[in-house]
Amino acid sequence: MKHYLIIGSGLVGRLLAWRLILQGHQISLLSSDDKTGTTSAGYIAAAMISPATEAVQTETKVKQIGLVSAHLWPKWLAELPEQIFYQNNGTLVVAHRGDQSEMARFKRRAQHVLADDDYVELNHEQLNVKEPQLAQQFEQALFFDGEACLDNRHLYRVLTTFLTTSSRCDWQQCNEIESLSHAVIKQLSQQYFNCDSDVYEAVIDCRGNGSKADLSGLRSVRGEVIRVHAPDVDFKHAVRLIHPRYPMYLAPRPNNEYVLGATVVENDDMSPVSVRSGLELMSALYSLHKGFAEARVLEMAAHCRPAMTDNMPVIKRTEFGYQINGLYRHGYLFSPAIISDFLALLDGKQHSMTFGGLFNA
Ligand SMILES: Cc1cc2nc3c(=O)[nH]c(=O)nc-3n(C[C@H](O)[C@H](O)[C@H](O)COP(=O)(O)OP(=O)(O)OC[C@H]3O[C@@H](n4cnc5c(N)ncnc54)[C@H](O)[C@@H]3O)c2cc1C
Repeated sequence: MKHYLIIGSGLVGRLLAWRLILQGHQISLLSSDDKTGTTSAGYIAAAMISPATEAVQTETKVKQIGLVSAHLWPKWLAELPEQIFYQNNGTLVVAHRGDQSEMARFKRRAQHVLADDDYVELNHEQLNVKEPQLAQQFEQALFFDGEACLDNRHLYRVLTTFLTTSSRCDWQQCNEIESLSHAVIKQLSQQYFNCDSDVYEAVIDCRGNGSKADLSGLRSVRGEVIRVHAPDVDFKHAVRLIHPRYPMYLAPRPNNEYVLGATVVENDDMSPVSVRSGLELMSALYSLHKGFAEARVLEMAAHCRPAMTDNMPVIKRTEFGYQINGLYRHGYLFSPAIISDFLALLDGKQHSMTFGGLFNA
């Protein structure tokens, strides 16, 4: 049994803590977040796991890493004591009449970046069979099989229960840690865990946006989402709406709840959703199906995605341990793949072979 200190209890921190405990290790978990996870990007996220549609709007490596995660998520979720909503019915990509040139561009990118069998074009009749309510507004769609979304809030709750009840985890809330070093870790270990820092096999920094002082090139990209309850809408697929300003997507949740996101704004502003973004999100929703008119707004929320300059994740060796960061808008899409790779690295096994270049020693 080895002892690890994980700093940050957002998406990466809590998943990593869980996986290390399953391997029989001891975890000290320190974070400025509450145990619900309300100040983490992963709590706000739509939690789409869409390797192909994301690759179209970014790069091929996104699909490669995302497919590893899409394979791992169902296995990982099956190891939890409660069933988490994980819907992998695929994504339907649609565009309004005025956005057909954007749709044509999306298709050209898809042809360039993806394999021929990654998607199919649906005419109105085929769309009507697959998602009748969407066919009321759209004449055609692109269909990407196998893409998924999960109920991130439920996942967070289940992981919180696991970590707070495990005898192998000591989880403490702290003030924001500005910068990490051996001296800071020594002081924090004594203050919060009453132990010396040399008990740790490794320290792993998972502070996301909070690691800027220790990770050159890390930036924040603001995103806003809306959560609604829409009893009149019953979509069985995730929907990506081609939009001139943002990559908009609708992620279903259980019981006719939906998350629609997300704006992409290049700054680190985490203040509440602006009126303009709120209007854009709501009109995008209403444009997908008129049944959203009577939906109830459960929440409008904003957070920031931690991103490196190339928008790709990084696993980095530092003076004090390791950093896992830069998951940008792909935290759910990448986490299982990246964490598995990192666990192999800790075990001294072959690592980062799949994603050559992400590990930065
Ligand atoms: C609006 C929005 C929509 C998104 N949608 C999707 C999606 O559909 N699919 C997808 O794959 N990804 C999505 N993402 C991205 C995903 O949420 C992030 O990539 C992921 O959460 C990053 O995980 P992380 O653990 O690095 O950071 P976080 O989840 O932010 O966790 C960081 C943790 O560290 C703590 N912390 C921060 N600073 C400090 C500090 N100084 N000291 C101590 N603790 C600190 C925080 O409180 C938090 O608990 C979205 C993100 C946003 C904002």
